[in-house]
Amino acid sequence: MTREFVPPPRGVTVRGALEAELASAPETGLTAKELSGLVGISEKDVAGHLEHLEKSLKAGGAALTVLPAECVACGYVFRDRKRLSRPGSCPECRSTRIDPPAFLIR
Ligand SMILES: [Zn+2]
Repeated sequence: MTREFVPPPRGVTVRGALEAELASAPETGLTAKELSGLVGISEKDVAGHLEHLEKSLKAGGAALTVLPAECVACGYVFRDRKRLSRPGSCPECRSTRIDPPAFLIR
């Protein structure tokens, strides 16, 4: 079995910082936008880091939970969405007013 292992740089890694922020909000979770501001990375990079964090959490017996995005206009919930990023528009009513997914660690 081969494993990629990249030694973390000195100090706190982005993933470690994400994990700490998520652990501090176990009830409501945090959106990609909130995480980007808290950790200091761009919002579009959050999903990629979360995918890696999810793998390391699984190895430790925890799990990254996604509270699905929801359409503000009609209440449609994006339950089947696999990607961690925010959907562009609602498949039901075409509204772009989407309440973004939130992430938490359980
Ligand atoms: Zn809708």
